[in-house]
Amino acid sequence: MQVVRTPGSARAIARTLPRPVGFVPTMGALHEGHLALVDRAKAENASTVASIFVNPLQFGVGEDFARYPRGFERDAELLSSHGVDLLYAPAPERMYPPGFASALDVGSLGARIEGERRPGHFAGVATVVVKLLHAIEPTSLYLGQKDAQQTAVIRAATRDLDMATNIVVAPTVREADGLALSSRNGYLGTEERAAAPSLYRAVRAVADAVLGGERDPRKARSAGLDLLEPPLRWDYLEIVDPLAFAPLDPLTRPAVVVAVAFAGSTRLLDNVTIPGADGIDPILTPLRLRPLAAAVLPARP
Ligand code: AMP
Repeated sequence: MQVVRTPGSARAIARTLPRPVGFVPTMGALHEGHLALVDRAKAENASTVASIFVNPLQFGVGEDFARYPRGFERDAELLSSHGVDLLYAPAPERMYPPGFASALDVGSLGARIEGERRPGHFAGVATVVVKLLHAIEPTSLYLGQKDAQQTAVIRAATRDLDMATNIVVAPTVREADGLALSSRNGYLGTEERAAAPSLYRAVRAVADAVLGGERDPRKARSAGLDLLEPPLRWDYLEIVDPLAFAPLDPLTRPAVVVAVAFAGSTRLLDNVTIPGADGIDPILTPLRLRPLAAAVLPARP
């Protein structure tokens, strides 16, 4: 596995790789969720590229940028043992040199739900992903369903900017007790870890209520609100449409149940998708395989 640290060297080497090229961007602190994306990219492409970059642009003031877990040697060994051909680990000063001033505006989609709690987060995500895509020029980009709104933002940004990359979204990898794997799970204390699977149970219960025909979002949410176990506390539990991430009232399908719970200052994020009547999963199914009406982005204000 080759390791490169600048956009120029990443592009030069990526261009020599046999195509198709699959690309998995990460912030490191790798777990089985990341590695499932790598394995999928490896299975579907002639070459596989991964990146590790803890992107300062997507962290807000007071968030965990400084203490975000970092372990480059272990991560690099894991990626190499999973057959990654090229690892791009840009130096922060090469990504954002003095005078860096250009960034993406991701519109109302990026301002809702997670974006409302984390202003500027999705603009930071979209900006770094577009920079990484320009450096690697992959055939396909591999993302996790775990960050469902992020997949919607990146799909919208890459389409708006006429980028040719396919977007592949893989299902959330979970612990046996249902907790979605996350680099931030290591922040959890014993009691918080024991209560953490109740987030997934709550989200699942809301999704089941919608699947059972509930049309009133208040009633569907109440199927899950009480299931969260202390010391976890709700940040939000919402049922949204899968393209604009706007809350649905009355409920229609397809939909996504999105939730965040606080465990102390740690935010645990999860979601469950609800397919439309046609059975098409709104996050996992590539846009080009969805009916045309669902593939059209809602108008921006
Ligand atoms: P991160 O390192 O958190 O930026 O995540 C890198 C990629 O891995 C993103 O596309 C995430 O959605 C994905 N990912 C993170 N956790 C999981 C998980 N538990 N299952 C599947 N994909 C995941």
